[in-house]
This record gives sequence, structure tokens and C-alpha cells, in this order.
Amino acid sequence: MTTFTIGKASITRIEEVLEKGFKPSWLLPGFHPSLFEHYPLLAQTNFYDAQDDRVMSSIHSWLLRIDGKIILVDTCSGNGKTRALPLFQRFHMLDLPFVENLAKVGVALEDVDIVFCTHLHVDHVGWNTRMQGDAWVPTFPNARYIFGREEYEHWTSGKGPEIFPENIQVIADSITPVADAGMMELVSDGHEILPGLRVEAAPGHTETQLILKYEAPEGAFVISADCIHQPIQIYAPELNSCFCENQEAARQTRRKLLEYCCDNNALLLPMHFGPPHGGYVLRDKDGFRFEPAAIATPPAIRSARTG
Ligand SMILES: [Zn+2]
Repeated sequence: MTTFTIGKASITRIEEVLEKGFKPSWLLPGFHPSLFEHYPLLAQTNFYDAQDDRVMSSIHSWLLRIDGKIILVDTCSGNGKTRALPLFQRFHMLDLPFVENLAKVGVALEDVDIVFCTHLHVDHVGWNTRMQGDAWVPTFPNARYIFGREEYEHWTSGKGPEIFPENIQVIADSITPVADAGMMELVSDGHEILPGLRVEAAPGHTETQLILKYEAPEGAFVISADCIHQPIQIYAPELNSCFCENQEAARQTRRKLLEYCCDNNALLLPMHFGPPHGGYVLRDKDGFRFEPAAIATPPAIRSARTG
């Protein structure tokens, strides 16, 4: 497990799966393989499988420990969920040791104080619930589940189901049971979850997606939801994923995120990068470049360790 420390916050990656994902030209329409020649970092085996022409794809949660609170950010795909539609085969009836991976870092299901979902796509909400008897029940019995109000409305009374019908079943088995249990709290742009830990609107991938920023005197990090799927998009920020709902907003949000990371020396923690799963963004001529955290020389105020 990878753990980063920034000020009073520690951030640990909880793996659901790390595997070969999509072909880059499919995931990122407009992608050109010459990017791999210009930027060899992107073609390293932790980010790209050249033999199969597929990008490496991680699905993980970020587990935050701040001021004695335990916060789980995004909950992957979940076990035992019916995802039979062609686009969702990868998530169908999984049996992966996510709960065991939490236990390995000393976290029992009862210990989680807050679950936060950046957006309500299939690979970000799955472990919100698990099967008990014949019903989906909240996995974390003592947690407040925090979702974006606008994102929740997007999927329950807005355009979400029309834009992405595959996700309807996901809302039914991974969001509605939480709402029905009275454990859901809806928040909007600017809401402070804990001192220094704030949600921010990041429209584009979904119109109503949120990211999570932590700012402290010792440093900053940002959990960037699906503003950016692959390191390729740091070098070519105009490339959206094929799943982005609003193309222009997604580009603007990504650029704003990258500029924020540069200007604040903030650790970028995306949801799908291959190892080391996060890093720093630096300005490079007219654009940006990526410094993966494990090989970065972190400033004294930061530490990154893998173990
Ligand atoms: Zn995702």
C-alpha cells in the first residue's frame, strides 16, 4: 500500500484492482501514439502495456486519516454486483479483497467515519453497499456518506440516466440503499468536511462532479476524481476521456486543476493512475509535466513512502 503524508493528514491507497485497462486511442479520443515517443515516462510499464496497447488502470480508494477521523474517498466497484451490460463487463460479479486490504492497514468497516464519493459512476461507489441476506446494505455502518447534492440530483431527477443508462443499476444498488438508511448527507461546492478539507465543483466528466482539496500550512493535496484518468492527459490536457459528459467543461476543469497543482505544489491524487498512483505537476514550456511521487524529491515538509 502506498501512503503519503502531508501535514497532519495521511493518505493511503486502498487497492481494488490494478490491471490493463483500455486502449489509449479508445479511452482518450484524439490520442496520438507519438506522445509515447515525446514523453517516454508515459510508456513506462507502470503506465502502459505496449504489447497489448493498453494503459494501466488502477481502481482504488484514498483513505484519509486527519485529526483522528477516517475518511474513505470513492469506493471502487464493489463485490457481487450485477454489471452485465457490455460496457460494464469489467465490473460484473467481482470478488476482490477490498475489505481485506482495508484490514491490512488496520481499518475495520466500523472504523470509517466518513465516506465521500466524488461522483456516482460505477467504479466510484461500489463498496458503498454490500449484500446482507438478500438486500444491499451500507458497508460502513458508522459512516456519514457524503455525496454532491447536484451529482445526486443529476442521477435521481436529472439527465444522468439518459446520458449514461448503464449507470442506472449502480444508483439502485449502491446509492439508494444508503439514502434509504438515512446515512446520506448532500453537500455542494465549498463545503468543508473537516478543517482544511474542502469539496470543489469540477464539472465536465460528469456535469456535477466534485474534487477534494486539502490545504494546510505544511502543504496541499487534491483528490482529483476523474478530471484526469491517465498521466497522458498531463502532457496533453486537451484530451478528454470518452466518458466525459461535457467536453469543453472537462478541458477547462482539467487545466484549472493542473494549474492549481503547479501553483500550490499540491500532490495530485487521481483515481486511476498506475504506480505510484500520484505525483506532482510542473510547468514545462507552454504545458505541464508529471513527476511521479515515489521518484520525486519531495520537499522537506512532505514524505512519501511505499510499503
Ligand atoms: Zn472512474
